[in-house]
Amino acid sequence: MKRIGVLTSGGDAPGMNAAIRAVVRTATYHGIEVYGIERGYKGMMEGAIRPLGPRDVSGIISRGGTILYTARCLEFLERAGREQAAANLEKLGIGGVVVIGGDGSYRGAECLHAEFGIHCIGMPGTIDNDIGGTDYTIGFDTAINTAMQAVDRIRDTAASHDRIFFIEVMGRRSGYVAMISGIAGGAEEILLPEVEISVERLIERLRAGERLGKKSSIIVVAEGCEYGGATGLARMVSEQSEYKDNRVTVIGHLQRGGSPTAFDRVLASRMGVRAVEALLEGETGKMVGISGQNMLLRPIREAWELRTRFDMGLLRVAHVLGV
Ligand code: ADP
Repeated sequence: MKRIGVLTSGGDAPGMNAAIRAVVRTATYHGIEVYGIERGYKGMMEGAIRPLGPRDVSGIISRGGTILYTARCLEFLERAGREQAAANLEKLGIGGVVVIGGDGSYRGAECLHAEFGIHCIGMPGTIDNDIGGTDYTIGFDTAINTAMQAVDRIRDTAASHDRIFFIEVMGRRSGYVAMISGIAGGAEEILLPEVEISVERLIERLRAGERLGKKSSIIVVAEGCEYGGATGLARMVSEQSEYKDNRVTVIGHLQRGGSPTAFDRVLASRMGVRAVEALLEGETGKMVGISGQNMLLRPIREAWELRTRFDMGLLRVAHVLGV
């Protein structure tokens, strides 16, 4: 293989730039060329593909977002769209692609590999940490640190005013960000999409905390929680209890941006090296993952077939420490 492509797709995540840099530099190290594909599969279809050299990725390891931009592309869900994309790669002699994104992007990669024989290797880039076959995804560590800092700041206000604050963090299907940022921020309660919520029980816990001398409480809520995330829950608590004067903060897209943490930069760098070397070894239809300290190469389907489930023991830690 003499020429490979790299793209970022789906939701952006901090550390995607570090991943692009690692792919480009590893390819250069091994004497092969890299083309950057802009806006994920959209750019692949439209031919927005340009050469990327090692100096083009200077200084981006510390930057959030993605210099290649990212997009969702509905046309790529149709075979005709994928045919056009594959033809564009062929025209440029691109024989392999590193796909940085979430499980949707991986499904696209699986199609390119199965239908057109284009070698594809996935790198998990998403803040949700909800991809099977890897302990961590690129962007998760930065997102949980951002969310934790938000919890810390809001606690100052909550404590000053003796108030209950509901803080909504990202996670439509997965409560991983809520769980970790909640424990790290010392939240009284953490509510996740994976666990059924009883509003009565939540109110009971708030009352129990008050009896033990708590004057304020922080409740971290994943956006995908039943009752409509933090806003819906806060309304229900206010309607059904004496806790009328609660406040809601939705951290939202603040969690996506920002300079990646050392952990995410190193993870992206290691994964980038492994991904390109996997292509050079002739691998395809695989994703790079980390298990403990080791880099793994797993079938890309594991990303969606083995959805990561966090250790429910963490919920007990939060529960015990929330007294
Ligand atoms: P993420 O990669 O973050 O999960 P999406 O689910 O939006 O993000 O997927 C990103 C893109 O991947 C989609 O816009 C589409 O172009 C492509 N894609 C997603 N699912 C499939 C699929 N089943 N087949 C082919 N391409 C897909």
